[in-house]
Amino acid sequence: MKEPTLKFPVTCPSCALQSFTEISIAVVANALLTERNIRLYASCHDIYWTATFIEREQLRKTLSSMKFETRRAVVQLASSQTRYALRKSDCH
Ligand SMILES: [Zn+2]
Repeated sequence: MKEPTLKFPVTCPSCALQSFTEISIAVVANALLTERNIRLYASCHDIYWTATFIEREQLRKTLSSMKFETRRAVVQLASSQTRYALRKSDCH
């Protein structure tokens, strides 16, 4: 099963170009719950950074506006896959 992701609009810290980053829903949901950092990515400069408070709030709104079925899947995924997904994203 492919891990569900969401597309989130980000602004590159280097050039301010707007783009979309694809990020694991399970990682975002778990990070918001546990106050962990969320890593965002801009392809134009191949750069990673930690989501700011404002970006976290935007992610929270994006998640809460999703359909119930998606959120139920998130709860199941958050417990089983987040540790692996976080470790994977730390490798960049
Ligand atoms: Zn850039």
